[in-house]
Amino acid sequence: MTDTSFMKTPQVEIPVSAAGNIPNNPDHQGREDLIGLSREQLAERFALLGEKPFRVNQVWSWLYNRGIRDIDGMTNISRETRTKMQDVFHISRPSITSQQDSEDGTRKWLLKFGDRNEAETVYIPDRDRGSVCISTQVGCTLTCRFCHTGTQKLVRNLGAAEIVGQFLTARDSYGEWPTPNETGRLLSNVVVMGMGEPLFNYDNTVTALKILTDPDGIALSKRRVTLSTSGVVPRMYDLGRDVGVNLAVSLHAARDDIRDQIMPINKKWPLKDLIKACREYPAVSNARRITFEYVMLKGINDSDADARELARLVRGIPCKFNLIPFNKWPGSDLECSSWDRIERFADILCDLGYSAPVRRPRGRDILAACGQLKSESQRERLKRHQTTEAPPAA
Ligand code: SF4
Repeated sequence: MTDTSFMKTPQVEIPVSAAGNIPNNPDHQGREDLIGLSREQLAERFALLGEKPFRVNQVWSWLYNRGIRDIDGMTNISRETRTKMQDVFHISRPSITSQQDSEDGTRKWLLKFGDRNEAETVYIPDRDRGSVCISTQVGCTLTCRFCHTGTQKLVRNLGAAEIVGQFLTARDSYGEWPTPNETGRLLSNVVVMGMGEPLFNYDNTVTALKILTDPDGIALSKRRVTLSTSGVVPRMYDLGRDVGVNLAVSLHAARDDIRDQIMPINKKWPLKDLIKACREYPAVSNARRITFEYVMLKGINDSDADARELARLVRGIPCKFNLIPFNKWPGSDLECSSWDRIERFADILCDLGYSAPVRRPRGRDILAACGQLKSESQRERLKRHQTTEAPPAA
């Protein structure tokens, strides 16, 4: 049996929701952002401007099919209407604080929003396609012990404009406008696995997902969008009903006593409730299986017994595992399981009928691998601050 006696129990308050939404992302002149408004909201806004409902389709196509960044470029809309729009709307993109390219092709951006808060977005190529990993919060309220991002306190939720804006920025970077056919895309998938717990920022995340999957704009198939949650059980039911994108669950343990120690959210929504929500997730089928993420932690969750318990726990759910070698980060007391152990763990799951590939670490040289996202500018700022504040050498 795995020895867990040495683990500390973090005392964490799990909030039901996180505060700080920025609904319409106004610019410094108070003009509302067109990016991030739902179709319904756009229709309301245009009605107030005395415009006909068909304007919504026109504007939507310019924003999300053509990637336009300037209202004046919407040439099938009359000059008079464009002038009216310019008085009340703007089109945002986050500004790029830094961009880093890994030797394996992974590209990471540190993006700055209107209030100077920052979050990270990563593009992970895979042959002729690839996934954009987007963030939903600045920081995180949860303190999953293996996660570097979890060491950064929650600052605020990102608005829908800021969530969608991450994907738009990635598309700008690769010049992927207008929206190509589904088969010819470099940026073919979205994974909502960056900073934060997306289901604690539910409304903004759902609005953003609806924009990303709208067939007349960015047009990502729901099958190509995966949201990862640490297990906000009530919202998993809502997500299945409201959007039905693919689900990934940060599982990381097959027993409550272990999961309590590494994922404090388990104390609020334990495995029994989490697994029930997975079984009942509406979009799940053999063609669209749930991904259970499982970080391999030496001596904690990686024994043969853990593997068998895991298979027993998820029996009957169309699912696959994603075994993640733990990325050691400064300050963490955890260790990655040995490769022999990871292979043995994967073999047991495979023998029991589950797909259990081991995730290849990506972007290690730019700290873009899973669980390592952290605002570098914040650290840079801190470093600069410390340099300024340090007493002069004697
Ligand atoms: S794994 Fe996700 S939910 Fe957990 S601390 Fe990291 S960012 Fe937050």
